[in-house]
Amino acid sequence: MSGPRAQLFACLLRLGTQQVSPLQLHTGASHAARNHYEVLVLGGGSGGITMVARMKRKVGAENVAVTLVGAGAKQLVIPSGVEWIKARVVELNPDKSCIHTDNGKEISYQYLIIALGIQLDYEKIKGLPEGFAHPKIGSNYSVKTVEKTWKALQDFKEGNAVFTFPNTPVECAGAPQKIMYLSEAYFRETGKRSKANIIFNTSLGAIFGVKKYADALQEIIRERNLTVNYKQNLIEVRANKQEAVFENLDKPGETQVISYEMLHQHEDLAPIPVKGFFMDNGDQIPPFPVTLNSHYVGSS
Ligand SMILES: Cc1cc2nc3c(=O)[nH]c(=O)nc-3n(C[C@H](O)[C@H](O)[C@H](O)COP(=O)(O)OP(=O)(O)OC[C@H]3O[C@@H](n4cnc5c(N)ncnc54)[C@H](O)[C@@H]3O)c2cc1C
Repeated sequence: MSGPRAQLFACLLRLGTQQVSPLQLHTGASHAARNHYEVLVLGGGSGGITMVARMKRKVGAENVAVTLVGAGAKQLVIPSGVEWIKARVVELNPDKSCIHTDNGKEISYQYLIIALGIQLDYEKIKGLPEGFAHPKIGSNYSVKTVEKTWKALQDFKEGNAVFTFPNTPVECAGAPQKIMYLSEAYFRETGKRSKANIIFNTSLGAIFGVKKYADALQEIIRERNLTVNYKQNLIEVRANKQEAVFENLDKPGETQVISYEMLHQHEDLAPIPVKGFFMDNGDQIPPFPVTLNSHYVGSS
C-alpha cells in the first residue's frame, strides 16, 4: 500500500503504540478555520472518548476534535476544550485525509482515529426485527427490545428458555451469557426453575475464549443444570409460533427447530456503513492493530 492511505495507517499505528511524542504530533498545522484538526476522533463512545482524553494530554485540547451525535448528558463526557463536532460522519476520504459529515462539512485531519463501534443488524435473521412485535422474545442489546426480555421472564410459565450467541463479532462476549445466569436466578427466586429448560445455543465452539474463565463457567453451567449447544447459529425466528431455527455451523444446511417459551436473541452485529470505510475490492479498511473499531477488535 502506498500514498496517503498508507500514511494514514502508519499514523494510526504510531499513535496506538504511543511512539509519537507531543513534539512529533505538533506540527503547527492550521486549525483556525475549524475544518482541520491534528487529531480527529470519529465516534464518541467508550473507545473514542478514551482516545480523546489521551490525545488531549499529548497534543493539547485545541488540537483535538471528536464527532458525537446527540445531546444532553453526552456533552459531559467530552474532555474540556476539545472540539465537539455535532454531526454524523457520512464519508471517509483517506486519500485526501478528510472526512465528510451529514451537515455538509469537510474536515481534514493529520491523524484520524476511527471508533465508530458496530451496529445491530437485525436483517441477518429471517423473521426479525418484525418478530419483536410478538411477546416472549427480547434482546438486551437495544433500548427498543430490552424491556421485552423482562416481560418474557415475568410471563414465563413452562418450557424452553433459549439464549443465543451470534455468528458475528460482538460488543460484549459475556452479555449473552449474563442474561442467562440472571434469568436462571430469577426462575429460582420465583419458584419457576423446575419448569424451565434453560438452553444456551452459541455459534462458538467454546463457552468463553479464555480457558481459565471457560473452566469456571463450565462449573457454573454444570451446577445450575444449563444446556449448552455449540456451533448453533440462529438463522430464523418464527415468533408467531414461538420457534427458533438454528443452523449447525459444522454441517451447513443442517437445521434444528426449537420451541421456546422465552427467547433472548443476541443481535448480529455489523460494521458501521460509512462511505469510504471500504476499499475498492469491497473489503473493509485493513485491520491495522490500533483501530478502536470493535469490528476488528472482536469480542470485548
Ligand atoms: C448489553 C451490553 C453489555 C455490555 N457489557 C459490557 C461489560 O460488562 N463490560 C465491557 O467491558 N463491555 C461491555 N459491553 C461492550 C461495550 O459497551 C463496548 O465494547 C464498547 O462500548 C465499544 O466501544 P466503542 O467505542 O468501540 O463503540 P461505542 O461505544 O458503540 O461508540 C461508537 C460511537 O460512535 C457513534 N457513531 C456511530 N456511527 C457514527 C457516525 N456515522 N458518525 C458519528 N458517530 C457515529 C455512536 O453513536 C457511538 O457513540 C457491553 C455491550 C452491550 C451492548
